[in-house]
Amino acid sequence: MANLTIFNSLSEKKEVFSSRKKISIYVCGVTPYDITHLGHAFTYVSFDMIIRYLRYLNYEVKYVQNVTDIDDDILKKAKETGIEWRLLGEKNFSLFLDDLQWLNIRQPDFFPRASDHIPEIISLIRTLLKKGFAYEKNRTVYFDVSKDHEYGKLSKINPEQMLPLLKERGGDPSDPNKKNPLDFVLWQKQQPGEPFWESPWGRGRPGWHIECSAMSMKYLGVPIDIHGGGGDLIYPHHESELAQSEKASGQLFVNFWLHTAMLYYQEAKMSKSLGNMVFVADLRKKYSANTVRLLLLSHHYRQEWEYSEPEIARAEKLNDLFKRIWLVQSGTGNEIEISSFRNDFFTALNNDFNSQQALQVLEHMVNISLKTDKNITPAKAFLNLAFNILGLRVEY
Ligand SMILES: [Zn+2]
Repeated sequence: MANLTIFNSLSEKKEVFSSRKKISIYVCGVTPYDITHLGHAFTYVSFDMIIRYLRYLNYEVKYVQNVTDIDDDILKKAKETGIEWRLLGEKNFSLFLDDLQWLNIRQPDFFPRASDHIPEIISLIRTLLKKGFAYEKNRTVYFDVSKDHEYGKLSKINPEQMLPLLKERGGDPSDPNKKNPLDFVLWQKQQPGEPFWESPWGRGRPGWHIECSAMSMKYLGVPIDIHGGGGDLIYPHHESELAQSEKASGQLFVNFWLHTAMLYYQEAKMSKSLGNMVFVADLRKKYSANTVRLLLLSHHYRQEWEYSEPEIARAEKLNDLFKRIWLVQSGTGNEIEISSFRNDFFTALNNDFNSQQALQVLEHMVNISLKTDKNITPAKAFLNLAFNILGLRVEY
């Protein structure tokens, strides 16, 4: 256990991970307004591998992944399609679950929905108001970033850099009710035709960031050992979660922040606005789940990469190579020596979960095993264990 080091986005350094047995993990989940794309799959496969490995190391992991079932994106899509927001969310969420299952991703211990946690959210907002970190204007409640001198400590960007990102990622810096353009919404008053809940500030709905703070604190308390999500969540989502959680509780919110890198496609960041998306549903028609999982795990979770046909062809070839070893009859000679492969495999995973290197070790071991006339039973047994840790299925 003591050898595991993890890159913490807050310190921007690799740090030795906890030696406590019980650990908590919160990963920001989907907003189910559309189907799963490969960027989502990269994030959730990466965290699935991370959690499988932590459990292999005997950590008792309590894992929560939320569902952002009420927010601007889902209401916008509901309006466009004419499908009621709750139905739209449920439909896309069940498709998401089906994709996760296909990808052999284990479900979290808790899958809380934001709309089921309105009382917890309201109570957290009341605490922030009472402590003077929030203010109400026209029945909307905002977090007051001027009261938090540490705001920006996670993303490490200055207010000038924050503004365009805020605009791009669902915030409204020009809202005239705000004291500061960077203040963010904790509770927003009901707009005509939108769903609402009763609150001390009138009818309305929660802001996006406060949902995750309320749900993570309810299920995991503070500090959370690992808080994860896609890299595009660092600002404003995680920066704001961190600010409001630490100001409300007076304690450290998270020990380790982990962020998965962005995916590229056709030479640009895979994004809704550019329309350069690759959907899991389309890959499912052509490739096996192991091939897609190998494609994703052959990139370290913090490394940006570009999806392309040759990339997935390479993963398919690797999958074919692995398939061959299960069918090979073992030689009758001496047993093959695998201790160096074993060492290298665990060294790679202990080094910030480097699945890319871990897979290269397995590929090397299988190539040698296919050529030797030695007894390869130990190689097969180790591959079986490694497949379990990486969440690959034994198929042939
Ligand atoms: Zn979140």
